[in-house]
Amino acid sequence: DLTNKGVTRSSSQEETFSTPPTGSPPITPPPVDKGKVTVGDVGCPVCRNDIATDPITTKCCNQVFCKSCLKESRKHSPYCPTCKEPMKKVKGNQPPGGTMTHYVLQTTSLPGYEGVGAIVINYDIPHGVQTKEHPNPGQPYRGTRRTAYLPNTPEGQEVLRLLKKAFDAQLIFTVGTSHTSGASNSVVWNDIHHKTVTHGDPFGYPDPTYLSRVKEELKAKGIQ
Ligand code: NAD
Repeated sequence: DLTNKGVTRSSSQEETFSTPPTGSPPITPPPVDKGKVTVGDVGCPVCRNDIATDPITTKCCNQVFCKSCLKESRKHSPYCPTCKEPMKKVKGNQPPGGTMTHYVLQTTSLPGYEGVGAIVINYDIPHGVQTKEHPNPGQPYRGTRRTAYLPNTPEGQEVLRLLKKAFDAQLIFTVGTSHTSGASNSVVWNDIHHKTVTHGDPFGYPDPTYLSRVKEELKAKGIQ
């Protein structure tokens, strides 16, 4: 008979689930789940009020804030004021319909990264018409095709993954006036630097700090 083997309930369990006798005080419902928030954690670290107004708890670190304080903070930074994790889906105004593809060229050596091959990235952003997110809504913009290179190392592959994330968040390009060519209404780089040649200064290798710099540029846009 298996029914009674190892499944005996302790008397305390019996008590926990027993129906209260008639006449006893009503059972208080459990408090609303506030994650790890405990008494004493109800103040807002932005305005420093002891009790947050219209409290909202972050998912990243279970910190309570006044709803209005968090809203204000988000206007200035996409990161949680406490733990600095990205708080909202970051999105740029890179025109739609573009592609980002890559392949590895084993035979190409980037100076400073010999013998590992190069990751070749191709971006293709078609021409289009500007929307209200762009400088001249309704006017056409000129698309672009760009090629960029990364070393095929673990850090290069990490940067590739971050660039892909940035591309999907429409952050790699924007529409504006090219500083280099002076052309207006054009698709241009958006403050995330790329190595567009394999050799030489300033847009090629060697550049020992490039990968860490570009990771910082990506982080500044909420990509990490
Ligand atoms: P831009 O001139 O407004 O400059 C934006 C940023 O890109 C600046 O920080 C600048 O330092 C950097 N930058 C400038 N020239 C670069 C280059 N050759 N490679 C990598 N980064 C560069 O932005 P933009 O007009 O988008 O780009 C600048 C230049 O990119 C163009 O004028 C042209 O020389 C080049 N471009 C390259 C291709 C390609 O296929 N590789 C295609 C079109 C234009």
